[in-house]
Amino acid sequence: MATPQAAPAHPKYVWWNGELVEWDHATVHVTAMEWVGVSAVFEGIKAYANPEEEKAYVFRLSEHMQRFDESMRLMRMEPEWNAEQLSESVLALLRANGVREDTYIRPFAYRGRGGRSFRSASENAPSILINTHPFTTTLKTGKTITTGVSSWTRISDNVMPPRVKAVANYQNSQLAWQEVMRNGYDDAIILNERHKVAEAPGACVMLVKRGRVITPPVTAGVLESITRSTLLQMFEEQLGTRTEEREVDRTELYLADEVFLCGTGAEVTPVVSVDRYPVGNGQIGPITSRMIDLYHDVVRGLDAPYDPWRTAI
Ligand code: PMP
Repeated sequence: MATPQAAPAHPKYVWWNGELVEWDHATVHVTAMEWVGVSAVFEGIKAYANPEEEKAYVFRLSEHMQRFDESMRLMRMEPEWNAEQLSESVLALLRANGVREDTYIRPFAYRGRGGRSFRSASENAPSILINTHPFTTTLKTGKTITTGVSSWTRISDNVMPPRVKAVANYQNSQLAWQEVMRNGYDDAIILNERHKVAEAPGACVMLVKRGRVITPPVTAGVLESITRSTLLQMFEEQLGTRTEEREVDRTELYLADEVFLCGTGAEVTPVVSVDRYPVGNGQIGPITSRMIDLYHDVVRGLDAPYDPWRTAI
């Protein structure tokens, strides 16, 4: 009898500065880690399997690569590859790794070519790494979370712009997570400098009140989330739900009918309490539930609209 093959611990290749490099050969000297995180920027993208077609689709690849390009430009990096070329590189990597399952994709740009200082602003051509790993979706699993409002304030545009995906921004996220998790919550909500709701440490926040979906604007101290704009469009076009982008008070979360987080990682995650105020009846709400079903079908391409959002591997 054949012995079942264990799944490999990692994919065969990473994409690194223009080449497909075997996993074990993609190494740097440990001292190169020094200040890499200070100006590094990154992306988080997902590819979802379509079991009927036995293939996988990358969700909103070009939008993610556009944002990656914007993150680099904001940090005054001058990448050797444009967004389109990097999208092609993602697809080449996924093909080389034979990806057919749900897969997370992590592009990462860093100033890593020498320099012994965090003042490496003159070093403008970033090194770029793209690596992938399988993930397990929480869509349609019934997963819910509790949240607490953090005492930390969200970073702001004139401090460390949350609009782009800079690694250093996640210090603020870490502080909030560490605090609320020690206080017994699953995740945090962070208020901005005006004491309005900004976002969660790694996801955007939406609430439902009297049938409307409400979310803070992109000027509230949030990442310009691709899932956020995806869901706003789908609520209006597919579910006939009115949406509002406007400032949100903390107490609106306490009195909301439904609350959920959204993001590439978070997907659509129902929130059942905020600061121990139960949201609605403490169960997944009907509008959240319909969006979870729809989002699930759209990302996998299961007889779903928005073809241009999916790139077949
Ligand atoms: N806000 C933060 C701070 C995040 O890290 C993420 C995850 N990328 C999001 C929002 C959601 O963004 P997106 O939908 O583009 O993944």
